[in-house]
Amino acid sequence: MAIAPIGIFGGAFAPFHNGHLRLALEAMDRLQLSQVRLIPTAHPAHRPDSRVSPQKRLEWVRRAVAKEKGLIADDREIKREGPSYTIDTLAELKKWRPRTPLVLLLGADAFAHFHTWHRWREILDLAHLAVVSRPGSALLPPVEADILAERHADSVEALRAVPAGLWLELPLPLLEISSSRIRRLLRTGHSVRGLVPDAILDALTPQDLQALTDQDDQSKH
Ligand code: ATP
Ligand code: MG
Repeated sequence: MAIAPIGIFGGAFAPFHNGHLRLALEAMDRLQLSQVRLIPTAHPAHRPDSRVSPQKRLEWVRRAVAKEKGLIADDREIKREGPSYTIDTLAELKKWRPRTPLVLLLGADAFAHFHTWHRWREILDLAHLAVVSRPGSALLPPVEADILAERHADSVEALRAVPAGLWLELPLPLLEISSSRIRRLLRTGHSVRGLVPDAILDALTPQDLQALTDQDDQSKH
């Protein structure tokens, strides 16, 4: 029997929210993944002024997945020195499980910038991409990532037939949830219940709230 792939889902997770949770769970289900590893970035290159510590973002992921079979909070990028590059994370996972296919999960907004990722071509040597629609972002490969045009898989079966190098869209229900919207709501004194897992919300300290509301908001989402 073919080895079930592992899903890799990275993000700032500032904070982790129910959009992230649904994406991970639905991807696991549709792609029949054995597990999804949720990996908070240590030093998001595009947000040098992040106020929320990596340890805190990891703690939130841990709380969110504590009761979810197959979802694993993975601290490898936080433990690693230097900037977080997905290619390094995938190379580590490949070394750990050489025969297990890897599927990188990402939202359409992240996919649109895939060609700007460090050594993105090599990422396709190590993993497939599974892309989820996001309100406000077209689900299309960036034209700059020329090779993606001929790497489209038209079914889960096609994706699973080879170990790496293809991309597939996952038609999941759109969720109007983003960490920046959550930070905005908190900043203006509104409730975020239903957007963020209760296990995170119920453990938020005044310092956590402060860090989240202080976070600079450049993000489109
Ligand atoms: P921010 O608003 O601060 O950018 P975010 O909600 O986009 O936060 P990130 O941690 O930046 O969350 O995103 C991590 C990954 O999750 C990205 O691939 C992003 O596209 C995806 N993602 C986040 N929210 C959703 C959502 N509601 N639907 C689909 N994908 C999502
Ligand atoms: Mg984002």
